[in-house]
Amino acid sequence: MAISATRRTFIKAAGTAAAAIALCGRAEAAESTTKETPEGITWDKTFDVIVVGSGGAGLSAAVSAAETGAKTVVLEKMSVIGGNTRITGGAFNAVDPEEQKKKGIEDSVEKHFEQTLKGGDYRGNPDLVREFTKRAPEALAWLKKCGVEFAPGVYQVYGGLWPRAHNTVMPFGTGYLKALTEQCRKHGIPIEKNAHVLRVIREHQLSGKVVGVTIEREGGRIEHYRANRGIVVAAGGFSANPVLRSKFDPRLRELHTTNHKGATGDLVAPLEDIGANTVGMDFIQLLPGGASDGRFIGAISPVENVIFVNKNGDRFIAEDQRRDVVAGAVLALPTKICYPILDVNGYNGMKTGARKAFDGAFKKGDAFTAPTLDELALKIQVPAENLKRSVEAYNKAVDTKKDPLGRNPNVLIHKIEKGPFYAGRLTMAVHHTMGGIEIDKRAQVVDRYGKVIPGLYAAGEFTGGVHGTNRVGGNAVAECFTIGRMAGQNAARD
Ligand SMILES: Cc1cc2nc3c(=O)[nH]c(=O)nc-3n(C[C@H](O)[C@H](O)[C@H](O)COP(=O)(O)OP(=O)(O)OC[C@H]3O[C@@H](n4cnc5c(N)ncnc54)[C@H](O)[C@@H]3O)c2cc1C
Repeated sequence: MAISATRRTFIKAAGTAAAAIALCGRAEAAESTTKETPEGITWDKTFDVIVVGSGGAGLSAAVSAAETGAKTVVLEKMSVIGGNTRITGGAFNAVDPEEQKKKGIEDSVEKHFEQTLKGGDYRGNPDLVREFTKRAPEALAWLKKCGVEFAPGVYQVYGGLWPRAHNTVMPFGTGYLKALTEQCRKHGIPIEKNAHVLRVIREHQLSGKVVGVTIEREGGRIEHYRANRGIVVAAGGFSANPVLRSKFDPRLRELHTTNHKGATGDLVAPLEDIGANTVGMDFIQLLPGGASDGRFIGAISPVENVIFVNKNGDRFIAEDQRRDVVAGAVLALPTKICYPILDVNGYNGMKTGARKAFDGAFKKGDAFTAPTLDELALKIQVPAENLKRSVEAYNKAVDTKKDPLGRNPNVLIHKIEKGPFYAGRLTMAVHHTMGGIEIDKRAQVVDRYGKVIPGLYAAGEFTGGVHGTNRVGGNAVAECFTIGRMAGQNAARD
């Protein structure tokens, strides 16, 4: 397409394809603005598949790609691997008839599908959600084969809506990372740290296949890696980027986050520059984190073990509600602080990572324990009579299976009756970005015209389309492994 020199110079200065489209109204116009053609690039290394990000999505993509024989590399910008997957609570939702039957829980892939879609107000992509819920049990079995050790049983994680969460024996995400890095070693997949991917290179800015990535090393050295078959971007979410998150939801600028500091979404714009579409960027989830700094301190799962009270010692919400509903209720409290209350069985019932996090919160003043409810009330400074009345009323609801606040009988199982008692001090923190780069049900990145970008795949929290407006607890870990695995397989095979 012919384009005048002045106009071309102006578009070049604008720097992005988005700007070019805005000016010319035609995708093809932006093609002619490509500054650097792939032909002009000297490739430092060549692989079949390049994976960006070493969290759950990235590592499962890499191992799956290598399982098909593809020569694969993982690039990680931080000096430690694992991203949010390293610090995750680890709850993994998947239908599991064998474990669920033991507890008398009825479940099906259809139910997981419906709850995921409905729990996100039907704003997820049904095709993608169908694929995710159908393949989650396979991904769970695959992880076991890779060496991840799961604790027996299932439970309902906070905001999980149904007891289908699995968790690892090792705390946080370390069980997942240990097994998958061992698989990387076995398959000869290098995991390069301090390798910050600045952009993905496409044959032309808005057309053709993706061919490689530009990497910035420590000290600013630039390198280019070529991908013969495909690139999987699994670069996580942007909860730790106050500027980006408040661009989509200005209320969130000042809040703390539960996330690792690399969750900054710095590849969203570069992918948009080569045509990738985004979905649901303003769907951002909050989670109660420790009041002092927002970090995850457990105490909120399994839901069956805990109640939440306010500064007055009263329960104010059914604790098994959707996460956005609980977040709204906490933020509506005058202090914006809630106190999860557990007894010793609830404390012992926390998953390993969550309990470790809770134990660590004592010194920050976000966790408390006392032999009686009277003494606990004194420590958290709520009226003791009210706290005891709330606990009694809840225990009665467990007996009658009828909760005045509407908690599901599924999670009216354990009374709070045996000391010592425990409390947390929590407020809402930015936890999960449910939107991101749009993918189809094969994990291929699609452009703003709904066409796939050849060779480009994405998975995990970097993408949007699974969770809609509200993520069901336990679905992110399941998603990152399930869709990560699919992205790796497809990138290697296509
Ligand atoms: C405290 C906490 C508890 C959680 N608990 C649960 C839970 O129990 N169940 C559940 O379902 N979900 C949970 N979640 C959410 C879930 O853990 C995450 O959504 C999931 O782990 C994300 O995995 P990922 O692979 O997509 O991203 P990550 O694990 O964040 O990995 C992305 C990686 O990409 C790297 N990266 C980013 N940009 C670049 C770049 N430009 N170049 C190179 N590398 C880059 C990052 O540094 C990071 O290492 C929790 C999250 C947190 C923070």
